[in-house]
Amino acid sequence: KKLLITIDGPAGAGKSTVSKALAQILSYLYLDTGSLYRAIAYKMIKEKKNSEDTQFIANLSNSLNLHLLAEKNILKIILDDVDITDLLRTEGLALLASRISAIPIIRETLLPIQRQFGKIGGMIAEGRDMGTVVFPNADLKYYLTATLEERVRRRHKELLEAGNDSEREEIRDQMILRDRQDMERLIAPLKVPVDALVIDSTGMAVGEIVAAITHDVEL
Ligand code: C5P
Repeated sequence: KKLLITIDGPAGAGKSTVSKALAQILSYLYLDTGSLYRAIAYKMIKEKKNSEDTQFIANLSNSLNLHLLAEKNILKIILDDVDITDLLRTEGLALLASRISAIPIIRETLLPIQRQFGKIGGMIAEGRDMGTVVFPNADLKYYLTATLEERVRRRHKELLEAGNDSEREEIRDQMILRDRQDMERLIAPLKVPVDALVIDSTGMAVGEIVAAITHDVEL
Protein backbone atom coordinates (compact mmCIF):
# COMPACT_ATOMS: atom_id res chain seq x y z
CA LYS A 1 0.00 0.00 0.00
CA LYS A 2 1.20 3.49 -0.85
CA LEU A 3 1.22 5.65 2.26
CA LEU A 4 0.70 9.28 3.09
CA ILE A 5 3.62 10.42 5.25
CA THR A 6 3.85 13.79 6.99
CA ILE A 7 7.00 15.50 8.23
CA ASP A 8 6.66 18.62 10.36
CA GLY A 9 9.29 20.61 12.19
CA PRO A 10 11.11 23.94 12.52
CA ALA A 11 13.33 25.58 9.89
CA GLY A 12 16.63 23.87 9.16
CA ALA A 13 15.70 20.54 10.76
CA GLY A 14 16.41 18.71 7.50
CA LYS A 15 12.80 18.21 6.40
CA SER A 16 13.33 19.01 2.70
CA THR A 17 16.52 16.97 2.33
CA VAL A 18 14.99 13.96 4.05
CA SER A 19 11.65 14.27 2.22
CA LYS A 20 13.30 14.52 -1.20
CA ALA A 21 15.47 11.48 -0.55
CA LEU A 22 12.50 9.48 0.74
CA ALA A 23 10.36 10.41 -2.26
CA GLN A 24 13.12 9.19 -4.58
CA ILE A 25 13.64 5.89 -2.78
CA LEU A 26 9.95 5.09 -2.34
CA SER A 27 8.84 6.58 -5.69
CA TYR A 28 6.44 8.85 -3.81
CA LEU A 29 5.47 12.43 -4.57
CA TYR A 30 7.19 15.16 -2.56
CA LEU A 31 5.00 18.05 -1.41
CA ASP A 32 6.94 21.03 -0.03
CA THR A 33 4.19 23.18 1.52
CA GLY A 34 6.56 25.94 2.67
CA SER A 35 7.00 26.76 -1.02
CA LEU A 36 3.32 27.62 -1.31
CA TYR A 37 3.61 30.21 1.46
CA ARG A 38 6.83 31.43 -0.13
CA ALA A 39 5.04 31.70 -3.51
CA ILE A 40 2.49 34.10 -2.01
CA ALA A 41 5.34 36.09 -0.42
CA TYR A 42 7.02 36.15 -3.86
CA LYS A 43 3.84 37.49 -5.48
CA MET A 44 3.54 40.19 -2.80
CA ILE A 45 7.09 41.40 -3.33
CA LYS A 46 6.66 41.33 -7.11
CA GLU A 47 3.47 43.35 -6.89
CA LYS A 48 4.90 45.62 -4.17
CA LYS A 49 2.24 44.67 -1.60
CA ASN A 50 2.81 44.29 2.12
CA SER A 51 1.20 42.17 4.79
CA GLU A 52 -0.87 45.15 6.01
CA ASP A 53 -2.61 45.47 2.64
CA THR A 54 -5.97 44.07 3.75
CA GLN A 55 -7.56 44.49 0.33
CA PHE A 56 -4.85 42.48 -1.39
CA ILE A 57 -5.15 39.76 1.27
CA ALA A 58 -8.96 39.71 1.06
CA ASN A 59 -8.89 39.37 -2.74
CA LEU A 60 -6.15 36.78 -2.77
CA SER A 61 -8.35 33.70 -2.66
CA ASN A 62 -10.13 34.85 -5.85
CA SER A 63 -7.16 36.26 -7.71
CA LEU A 64 -4.49 33.69 -6.87
CA ASN A 65 -3.35 31.62 -9.85
CA LEU A 66 -1.19 29.07 -8.05
CA HIS A 67 -0.86 25.42 -9.08
CA LEU A 68 1.18 22.36 -8.31
CA LEU A 69 2.49 20.42 -11.27
CA ALA A 70 3.87 16.90 -10.82
CA GLU A 71 7.19 16.44 -12.57
CA LYS A 72 8.64 13.03 -11.72
CA ASN A 73 8.66 12.91 -7.88
CA ILE A 74 8.56 16.65 -7.41
CA LEU A 75 5.62 19.02 -7.31
CA LYS A 76 6.61 22.21 -9.10
CA ILE A 77 5.18 25.56 -8.00
CA ILE A 78 3.44 27.33 -10.88
CA LEU A 79 2.44 30.96 -10.23
CA ASP A 80 0.62 32.84 -13.00
CA ASP A 81 1.67 30.09 -15.43
CA VAL A 82 5.38 30.42 -14.62
CA ASP A 83 7.45 27.76 -12.84
CA ILE A 84 8.94 29.66 -9.86
CA THR A 85 10.06 26.59 -7.86
CA ASP A 86 13.74 27.51 -7.99
CA LEU A 87 13.25 31.18 -7.08
CA LEU A 88 11.83 30.61 -3.61
CA ARG A 89 14.77 29.56 -1.43
CA THR A 90 15.82 32.93 0.02
CA GLU A 91 15.68 33.90 3.71
CA GLY A 92 13.85 37.14 2.84
CA LEU A 93 10.98 35.19 1.28
CA ALA A 94 11.04 32.74 4.21
CA LEU A 95 10.56 35.57 6.72
CA LEU A 96 7.72 37.16 4.77
CA ALA A 97 6.16 33.71 4.26
CA SER A 98 6.28 33.18 8.01
CA ARG A 99 4.64 36.55 8.67
CA ILE A 100 1.75 36.01 6.24
CA SER A 101 1.26 32.37 7.23
CA ALA A 102 -0.43 33.60 10.42
CA ILE A 103 -3.26 35.13 8.34
CA PRO A 104 -6.29 32.77 8.35
CA ILE A 105 -7.51 33.47 4.74
CA ILE A 106 -4.06 32.65 3.42
CA ARG A 107 -3.99 29.28 5.19
CA GLU A 108 -7.55 28.56 4.00
CA THR A 109 -6.68 29.45 0.42
CA LEU A 110 -3.75 27.03 0.41
CA LEU A 111 -5.62 24.15 2.05
CA PRO A 112 -7.29 22.63 -1.07
CA ILE A 113 -4.08 23.03 -3.10
CA GLN A 114 -2.22 21.00 -0.47
CA ARG A 115 -4.92 18.35 -0.13
CA GLN A 116 -5.53 17.59 -3.82
CA PHE A 117 -2.63 15.13 -4.04
CA GLY A 118 -3.23 13.58 -0.61
CA LYS A 119 -6.04 11.32 -1.75
CA ILE A 120 -4.00 9.14 -4.06
CA GLY A 121 -1.48 7.99 -1.44
CA GLY A 122 2.24 7.68 -2.03
CA MET A 123 3.18 11.16 -0.87
CA ILE A 124 5.61 12.80 1.57
CA ALA A 125 4.13 16.10 2.75
CA GLU A 126 6.46 18.44 4.57
CA GLY A 127 5.70 21.64 6.51
CA ARG A 128 4.49 22.96 9.87
CA ASP A 129 0.90 21.69 10.12
CA MET A 130 0.88 18.58 7.95
CA GLY A 131 0.07 16.09 10.70
CA THR A 132 -2.07 18.46 12.76
CA VAL A 133 -4.28 20.26 10.23
CA VAL A 134 -3.78 19.39 6.57
CA PHE A 135 -3.51 15.58 6.79
CA PRO A 136 -4.73 14.55 10.27
CA ASN A 137 -5.37 11.01 8.95
CA ALA A 138 -1.89 10.45 7.51
CA ASP A 139 -0.51 6.90 7.77
CA LEU A 140 2.81 7.93 9.31
CA LYS A 141 3.67 11.21 11.02
CA TYR A 142 7.08 12.54 11.95
CA TYR A 143 8.33 15.60 13.75
CA LEU A 144 11.88 16.32 12.72
CA THR A 145 13.93 18.65 14.85
CA ALA A 146 17.53 19.51 15.83
CA THR A 147 19.24 21.95 18.16
CA LEU A 148 19.22 25.61 17.14
CA GLU A 149 23.00 25.62 16.61
CA GLU A 150 22.82 22.59 14.33
CA ARG A 151 19.97 24.07 12.31
CA VAL A 152 21.85 27.37 11.91
CA ARG A 153 25.00 25.50 10.83
CA ARG A 154 23.07 23.55 8.17
CA ARG A 155 21.28 26.61 6.81
CA HIS A 156 24.57 28.53 6.67
CA LYS A 157 26.20 25.71 4.69
CA GLU A 158 23.18 25.43 2.39
CA LEU A 159 23.23 29.16 1.62
CA LEU A 160 27.00 29.08 1.05
CA GLU A 161 26.60 26.25 -1.44
CA ALA A 162 23.96 28.29 -3.22
CA GLY A 163 26.45 31.17 -3.47
CA ASN A 164 25.05 33.32 -0.63
CA ASP A 165 27.59 34.01 2.08
CA SER A 166 25.32 35.23 4.88
CA GLU A 167 26.41 36.00 8.42
CA ARG A 168 25.85 33.14 10.80
CA GLU A 169 24.53 35.56 13.44
CA GLU A 170 21.98 36.93 11.00
CA ILE A 171 20.78 33.45 10.06
CA ARG A 172 20.51 32.61 13.75
CA ASP A 173 18.44 35.74 14.53
CA GLN A 174 16.11 35.12 11.58
CA MET A 175 15.66 31.49 12.54
CA ILE A 176 14.76 32.35 16.14
CA LEU A 177 12.27 34.94 14.91
CA ARG A 178 10.70 32.54 12.39
CA ASP A 179 10.45 29.68 14.90
CA ARG A 180 8.75 31.99 17.38
CA GLN A 181 6.28 33.27 14.77
CA ASP A 182 5.50 29.72 13.61
CA MET A 183 5.01 28.33 17.12
CA GLU A 184 3.14 31.26 18.65
CA ARG A 185 0.61 32.02 15.93
CA LEU A 186 -3.02 31.30 16.81
CA ILE A 187 -3.92 29.34 13.69
CA ALA A 188 -2.18 26.02 12.93
CA PRO A 189 0.88 26.69 15.11
CA LEU A 190 3.93 24.48 14.71
CA LYS A 191 3.72 21.70 17.29
CA VAL A 192 4.28 17.96 17.57
CA PRO A 193 1.20 16.11 16.24
CA VAL A 194 -0.14 13.82 19.00
CA ASP A 195 0.49 10.64 17.01
CA ALA A 196 3.87 11.66 15.52
CA LEU A 197 7.27 10.12 16.05
CA VAL A 198 9.85 12.71 17.08
CA ILE A 199 13.29 12.46 15.48
CA ASP A 200 16.06 14.68 16.81
CA SER A 201 18.39 14.80 13.82
CA THR A 202 21.24 16.56 15.67
CA GLY A 203 24.40 14.66 14.76
CA MET A 204 22.51 12.24 12.51
CA ALA A 205 23.40 11.78 8.85
CA VAL A 206 20.61 12.20 6.28
CA GLY A 207 21.01 8.53 5.35
CA GLU A 208 20.33 7.42 8.93
CA ILE A 209 17.09 9.39 9.16
CA VAL A 210 15.95 8.17 5.74
CA ALA A 211 16.78 4.58 6.71
CA ALA A 212 14.79 4.87 9.95
CA ILE A 213 11.71 6.15 8.11
CA THR A 214 11.90 3.64 5.22
CA HIS A 215 12.16 0.94 7.85
CA ASP A 216 8.81 2.11 9.34
CA VAL A 217 7.24 2.27 5.86
CA GLU A 218 8.20 -1.30 5.09
CA LEU A 219 6.76 -2.66 8.35
O1 C5P B 1 9.49 25.28 5.24
P1 C5P B 1 9.77 26.67 4.76
O2 C5P B 1 10.96 27.29 5.40
O3 C5P B 1 9.84 26.74 3.27
O4 C5P B 1 8.48 27.51 5.20
C1 C5P B 1 8.43 28.91 5.10
C2 C5P B 1 7.40 29.44 6.09
O5 C5P B 1 6.09 29.06 5.66
C3 C5P B 1 7.51 28.87 7.50
O6 C5P B 1 8.37 29.62 8.32
C4 C5P B 1 6.08 28.91 8.01
O7 C5P B 1 5.78 30.15 8.59
C5 C5P B 1 5.24 28.77 6.76
N1 C5P B 1 4.67 27.44 6.66
C6 C5P B 1 3.50 27.18 7.33
N2 C5P B 1 2.90 25.96 7.21
C7 C5P B 1 3.45 25.01 6.45
C8 C5P B 1 4.68 25.23 5.78
C9 C5P B 1 5.28 26.47 5.91
O8 C5P B 1 2.99 28.04 8.03
N3 C5P B 1 2.83 23.84 6.34
